[in-house]
Amino acid sequence: MLPHRVFARLYQWIRVAAVLLGTAELLTSPVSTAATPPIKTRSAAISQLGLASIPGPLPTYYSHGTQSRAHQLQTLLGGELSYYSILFSQRLPPISLAVLTTEDWRDVDPEDPYGMPSVSDQAPFVFVMPNDWSKVTWMTLPARDRVPQGLLKRALANGRTWHQVQFEGCDGIGTHEIGHVIVKALGIDPQTRWFNELLASYVGYAYLREKFPLQALSSEIFWRQGLSAPHHLSRLEDFESHYDELMQHDPANYGWYQVAFDQRVIDVYREQGVGFLRTVRLAFPQGAPRLTTPEIVDRLDGLSAGWKAWAASITSSTH
Ligand SMILES: [Zn+2]
Repeated sequence: MLPHRVFARLYQWIRVAAVLLGTAELLTSPVSTAATPPIKTRSAAISQLGLASIPGPLPTYYSHGTQSRAHQLQTLLGGELSYYSILFSQRLPPISLAVLTTEDWRDVDPEDPYGMPSVSDQAPFVFVMPNDWSKVTWMTLPARDRVPQGLLKRALANGRTWHQVQFEGCDGIGTHEIGHVIVKALGIDPQTRWFNELLASYVGYAYLREKFPLQALSSEIFWRQGLSAPHHLSRLEDFESHYDELMQHDPANYGWYQVAFDQRVIDVYREQGVGFLRTVRLAFPQGAPRLTTPEIVDRLDGLSAGWKAWAASITSSTH
């Protein structure tokens, strides 16, 4: 079941992608039609609050009392940036992280509900993450009794707690968002919205599998929860052609698409590992002629087997 506030979150994900892809000016917010609020950048708000910070490749500001969580998220998300920067010998754009309590969130990101991860739409770019997912109201945390027993047992290995698995699954939204930054920085043109979303998840998931394999299991649990969402559309072409409609009127169907993409991520990673991203970088460079969805699927199928079969299988999954 998808949360009632999921639309706003999904819109935010897209806004982030659009900003990072340089198309933000094409979007206007369908969420807020109120008078324009006073302009205060996130960095200005952070400065006014006098938040402490941790230096590093991903400078991290944090609310009072959240230092250990800030360290954890800096390690996770800064580690993702460093991992791909080194792997691809690629300089990545400067970005900082803010880990916030509910009180500070209202000052730094007043437009969005607490805990909705997003990158600011103007420089200096600040990525906000919640200190405490249990205080988030726009999203339902994964439910333990809905996780297949085998998967749950593996996720709880080595004394890990369900609370930890829940938080890590939600933190996977962060690795997806950083994934958008990396896809763009690597010069990959996903050509379509569906492939862009799939690739952002691939970047985040491949990093977790390489560096934090148990946390990758937490992402798998998080993704699995959305697969039962009602979805009258399931073709890749429909995601493109009905995109605005899905965003504005059918968040459940939109969310189903995201987790359907994520299932493909898991399968391709099993065969190709992180090396798949090298292949994609060569096959989908920026500035190349436009491709249709069938042409993209054809090209991918030539790179690794199973894409055509996958595209066909999700088409027939409508319910
Ligand atoms: Zn995304």
